[in-house]
Amino acid sequence: MREAAGLGSPRKRSVSIFNLGAMVTGDLAHPLADADSLYIEDGVIRELGTGRVSAEVEIDARGLTLVPGLVDGHTHPTFGDFSPTQNSVGWTQAYLHGGTTTIVSAGELHLPGLPLDKPDPKLWRYLAVLARRCTADYRPGGLKIVAGTMCLMPGMVEADFDELAAEGSRVVKFIFYPYGERPEEAQAYVDWAKKRGLVVKIHSGGVSRSGLSRPAGAAVITTLRPDVVGHASGGPIPMPLEELDEVVERTDAFLEVAYAGNPRWTVHLVQKVRERNELHRLTVGTDTPSGTGTTPRGMLRTIALMASLGGVSAPEALCLASGNTARAHGLQTGFIRPGSPADLLLIGRIVGANGRDVLEALSVGDLPGISAILVDGQVLVAPRSQQMPPPERLAVVTTS
Ligand SMILES: [Zn+2]
Repeated sequence: MREAAGLGSPRKRSVSIFNLGAMVTGDLAHPLADADSLYIEDGVIRELGTGRVSAEVEIDARGLTLVPGLVDGHTHPTFGDFSPTQNSVGWTQAYLHGGTTTIVSAGELHLPGLPLDKPDPKLWRYLAVLARRCTADYRPGGLKIVAGTMCLMPGMVEADFDELAAEGSRVVKFIFYPYGERPEEAQAYVDWAKKRGLVVKIHSGGVSRSGLSRPAGAAVITTLRPDVVGHASGGPIPMPLEELDEVVERTDAFLEVAYAGNPRWTVHLVQKVRERNELHRLTVGTDTPSGTGTTPRGMLRTIALMASLGGVSAPEALCLASGNTARAHGLQTGFIRPGSPADLLLIGRIVGANGRDVLEALSVGDLPGISAILVDGQVLVAPRSQQMPPPERLAVVTTS
């Protein structure tokens, strides 16, 4: 007896996906794979293009395009599925339905009552550890949450970085740090973090919603040498254009494009990086939930912006927002290749969209429809996303 599998279906060991129209790999060096099928076992991609159909879960893609689940490199989770910024609940599930299968925290700094004006290193370390432990094995909404990002404050010691690394945190972030007052200490933080494999991110540009973040432009960034320039084209306010150019030219840092940023700066940044043959430096995030709101389509909107106005192809834009962002944060997701977690989307052209197929639609700025979403090989969304218009055709999922 076979029945349609959907939300909440029990985990199955093997999954096949076949009749694919196209496959985007997540790898900028080879954005498209010449394969029309995929085989998954125990949540991990095992085979590409072998045509194997027989599996416990069989997904007839009916010509849809397979892409890696999107990796939102800049989010602000707080506790579970609650975001105090807009008093919203359920936002992570909404993001999943917008194609995001992993979110990376850029700091759990939206707690009501959090005393941002009294920098206390112990409090920020505690907060990062708490967030990390609350999300290590807990997936509200079904997506993966990479949280426990420590905001860097004056007065931290090397042991703080030891503790954070031991907890399994991935990222530390400069945002409220008084750069001009304590430059040697800031540099020590960068060194301590890098020595432990922690990714150093910086809030770049103007002041944030809190009013208390420290502006950071070319002078700070070229001195500190963070791994990732957070929302390089604004989140919300970007550094001046000539300073952004200087950061591109004088550093080799990853450059984050955020949905919450300035679209004109984003187009300039993407075009400039493209001209320099340095697309591998771009990462993508939403910088939400925030004053910008909760934006389930934020990643897809940014992909469409880059593909329509930034001079990159739609497959390249999708790779930037999946594998490349995962790589920048040292995450094991974002790619469609043997050995990678099966975090996947089946997308297709929406009825009435421009372009003959979904990749062409994206290249002129139209959003894709999403039929199915898998995380670790489990079908979490099918036959269609609740946040996107449906694609012309829906995948057919059968389970035995
Ligand atoms: Zn942010």
